[in-house]
Amino acid sequence: MTTHAPATLRIGCIADDFTGATDLANNLVRAGMRVVQTIGVPDGPLDTEADAVVVALKSRTVAPAEAVAQSLQALAWLRDQGAQQIYFKYCSTFDSTPQGNIGPVTDALMDALGSDFTIATPAFPDNKRTVFKGYLFAGDVLLNESGMQNHPLTPMTDPNLVRVLQAQTARQVGLIDHAVVARGEAAIRERIAALREQGVSIAIVDAVSNDDLLRLGPALRDMALVTAGSGVAIALPANFGIAPSSQAAVLPPASGLKAIVSGSCSVATNQQVMHFIQSGRPALAIDPLRIAAGVDVCAEALAWAGDKIAGGPVLIYSTADTSAVKSIQSKLGVEAAGTLVEQTIAGIARGLVELGVRQLVVAGGETSGACVQALEIAQMRIGGQIDPGVPWCHALAPAAPDGLHITLKSGNFGTADFFTKAFAACAA
Ligand code: ADP
Repeated sequence: MTTHAPATLRIGCIADDFTGATDLANNLVRAGMRVVQTIGVPDGPLDTEADAVVVALKSRTVAPAEAVAQSLQALAWLRDQGAQQIYFKYCSTFDSTPQGNIGPVTDALMDALGSDFTIATPAFPDNKRTVFKGYLFAGDVLLNESGMQNHPLTPMTDPNLVRVLQAQTARQVGLIDHAVVARGEAAIRERIAALREQGVSIAIVDAVSNDDLLRLGPALRDMALVTAGSGVAIALPANFGIAPSSQAAVLPPASGLKAIVSGSCSVATNQQVMHFIQSGRPALAIDPLRIAAGVDVCAEALAWAGDKIAGGPVLIYSTADTSAVKSIQSKLGVEAAGTLVEQTIAGIARGLVELGVRQLVVAGGETSGACVQALEIAQMRIGGQIDPGVPWCHALAPAAPDGLHITLKSGNFGTADFFTKAFAACAA
């Protein structure tokens, strides 16, 4: 691969899922870094300058060997781009099975980097994830009492992260506890040296507040690999002399037509759709049964939008309440209904951009994945957040060669007026 390494690339991040990648990118932007998120490992070099790049993988629940292969590919690309420090990002609830993938991916990255010590902490106090004495709390309860013990793919039944990670790696796992973290950089470095002496090469780190993370940050300055949730990201930019600045979130000026597509049926999205309709703006509901019956719902929706869109933002949605969704699912099957609706909305998103939409709001996690794919977006620059965890992004796409603004809102994020607020924030 030819290397056109941007001189500025400081942190290269490997995230184990798509929305987790955005969450990390958002924290890095808020801490002052200019950040690009890529969808998978890009084929070519980074197309713009950035202080950090987050490669979004889908490696959380795939087989460990596959997760390792994807992560090593991401690592090779990030090193080609000149990344000075590598950040492996996983979920703030440490989502994993006894086989991994946090342990195997950490091992593979350490081997590839020739690193003999790293940390592991999912602490994200802003999101109520704290670690104390190596035990992970979600809100006020231990991880295994938080509902995560019943997760369909990664049930978390042990809140002790030293034990959880030790089960996934042949390396020895230790702990940097809160008493040490509270004393700051020198004490943390001393503890790391002592753990190294004992043969420990991965340390879980306690943190119950952002201040703890900010005390930890300087001790990670020369660590080749950091593994963490998105919380630690608030403390790393300072190591590169970067301070929070609104400049980091600046995107090219927004222009063009505005639209919202929504395939999310979450409670917050239902409220947002309702709010938009009640404000008197144009909205079109998509009926999954008509899609299933073979009607070209995509063409219908685009013809409808074509008439109205010059007058302001339009909303096209399949969003429905639980009973309506259940009824559709009983007729079409859960998976088939999901795929059918996702593909239709993705086709509509692409068609809207072809009509001239350059400010696009997408509601729904899976829906976002389908839309980004249909738009053939490979890289997105991360801008300012509209609501916590939901930033505007700017991306190049074949249907918008000069770029478009896009925001990907996962189900329960955002206030009721999110759709109108988003466009106001984009214009600001
Ligand atoms: P969220 O982030 O709210 O979970 P997602 O887009 O991830 O939203 O998931 C919503 C799923 O529901 C998608 O697979 C979507 O295609 C499907 N869906 C959307 N509208 C309907 C509907 N009216 N009936 C059945 N399924 C739907």
